[in-house]
Amino acid sequence: MHTDVAIVGGGPGGLAAAAALSRVLDPSVRIKVFEAARGYSEAGAGVGMHINGLMACEAIHPSIAHTLYDKACYSLCSYQYDDVTGQRNAGGTIAVDRMGQLEATGHCQALMYWNDVRESLYEHLPDPGMVEFGWRAAGCQAIDGAEQELMSGAGASAADGAAAAELPWAQQPYRYELRMARQRAGGFVGGGGAAALAAADADAKDNDGKEEEGKGREGAAPSEELLVRAKVVIGADGYFSRIRRELLGGTPPVFSGVVMWRGSFTAEELSSGAVPLPPAAFGAGASDRAASHRWTPAGAGLAPGQGRVLLLFLAQGGDGIGAWYLQNSVKAVQEAGVEFPPAGAAGGVGGLSGSAALARALAANGHLPPDVAALLAATAPERVTEHGLYVQPLDSVQQGSWTRGHVVLIGDAAHAAPPDGQGANLAIEDAVVLADVARRHGGVLGPQVFAEWEALRQPRVKAILGDTKYPFTERMIAVRASSFAQLWAPGDPGLPTSLPADPADGSSSRGNGGGSSSSSGSSSEQSPSMEALRAWSRRTTKAIVERRLAEVAARGAVEQAGEGGAQGPAQAPAPAVVAAGARDDGGGR
Ligand SMILES: Cc1cc2nc3c(=O)[nH]c(=O)nc-3n(C[C@H](O)[C@H](O)[C@H](O)COP(=O)(O)OP(=O)(O)OC[C@H]3O[C@@H](n4cnc5c(N)ncnc54)[C@H](O)[C@@H]3O)c2cc1C
Repeated sequence: MHTDVAIVGGGPGGLAAAAALSRVLDPSVRIKVFEAARGYSEAGAGVGMHINGLMACEAIHPSIAHTLYDKACYSLCSYQYDDVTGQRNAGGTIAVDRMGQLEATGHCQALMYWNDVRESLYEHLPDPGMVEFGWRAAGCQAIDGAEQELMSGAGASAADGAAAAELPWAQQPYRYELRMARQRAGGFVGGGGAAALAAADADAKDNDGKEEEGKGREGAAPSEELLVRAKVVIGADGYFSRIRRELLGGTPPVFSGVVMWRGSFTAEELSSGAVPLPPAAFGAGASDRAASHRWTPAGAGLAPGQGRVLLLFLAQGGDGIGAWYLQNSVKAVQEAGVEFPPAGAAGGVGGLSGSAALARALAANGHLPPDVAALLAATAPERVTEHGLYVQPLDSVQQGSWTRGHVVLIGDAAHAAPPDGQGANLAIEDAVVLADVARRHGGVLGPQVFAEWEALRQPRVKAILGDTKYPFTERMIAVRASSFAQLWAPGDPGLPTSLPADPADGSSSRGNGGGSSSSSGSSSEQSPSMEALRAWSRRTTKAIVERRLAEVAARGAVEQAGEGGAQGPAQAPAPAVVAAGARDDGGGR
């Protein structure tokens, strides 16, 4: 297969890159995403989407942000326990001033089902056929002259303006060859842990493809392979990026000392009552049904990676999928008599799935109240994964860390984040800024564009990921100060073709109050300008959030959870009021 741009990895970063670049590159430029997972379903748990990530989604297309705001969870209970006694010390609904955030920035934070983020981006690709599912990059190398380009670090020289201007796409040579292996059935991917897949990939003996022998997908040749030649490669393949390892090298992420388990329930399992849902675990009456539980040593605070964390998440007010993640320190895991990394798992990274992972989760987390442990134990083993959490040391990040030649890394592949709610957000930001820089260079991708992009992104990523000794709230200044150039234009599909005039601001209209479908407007229609559409998008966002918050309030979730969320072994908790801009995500990358 030949393509102009090969994006390896179809997570939030890779999909956002495909969607964003499609808006700024000439339509004749071929963009392909190669995703190891064989499809998108039932992956991940809750992820904190913040002002910056949602603003970046809006920059690709307003309807991505609107879809996510519509599906988001707006009510989160948060509980803190004494690590030693198990006593629940504090808890209640976290009240976030979303209207204040909307007023100040046009966006607000919310908790989402991780797979909804991925699917919303996927659904906004100009052509779903851009994604080739079930193909894992098992090897990649530079072809001929591109090898010299890589060795000489052309990305760095481009920063000094030394690189030649890019040739038109049609005249560019194919510079890289990627060897794709058909992803075998089962394994980590469908089970909700492509992070674990990446971990497995890091250590699997697949450099020569032998791992695949005899394990091909049903109906596929045992060692089915696809050779892909590309002019530009974007590595969006997560924190154990093969693209980074094979084409850039550099400092790999380091083990953070934290072990992570994830699991999920289907909507059918939940509605049939097969899964016990203890009210004490969620807070009474919490209609959006998400709860974060943290067991911390006295005085330790809630710094990322500290303590034991459980996040329970039921999508769509409990009518959709359910998911959980659980994290604990490797020290506590080993003290509980559970070996880490597990014997027979993927090397030092601890990638494991299935019943062994579930049994280990329960054995290593004896601090869970019995009803919560029973909830986790009801998870179908094939949807449980375990892996170590790895983080990119920020002091290893320097010019040229994320790009070389016509290769660039984005998202976790470039800057694997600690689990404090920015991984997906920054991955989407990366993609949007990359597309904007490419647009300013006339729709090309190459050393000069990548170096300019890297120079913009590194200070930003460092500011947001910052010093993780400090709570995320202290790093929110950079998040609130986000701003992205819009990649869409009036007349693009999915945008209103006309808006009724809005006497209030003189430029635009009433919003349509939900979704992003075209609005036919009223009698005093005018052709919407970019500015008017942007104002429309913000009004639509606000209307969606207001509606969703009203739904939560109508069910009494906030009030009830605030007063009685700590049913169970609790002292009556006061609602934890969090200022605008603070986290309410319960963690997440
Ligand atoms: C399945 C999954 C579930 C997650 N769930 C949560 C969650 O619930 N909460 C949370 O806060 N964070 C979650 N994360 C992590 C977090 O969302 C990341 O920080 C964020 O997604 C970064 O986006 P990314 O696109 O850079 O990398 P990732 O999301 O890691 O995506 C990388 C993609 O590349 C694919 N891939 C990896 N290696 C190859 C290869 N060799 N060839 C082809 N494809 C490859 C993977 O299958 C994956 O889809 C999850 C990540 C994954 C992969």
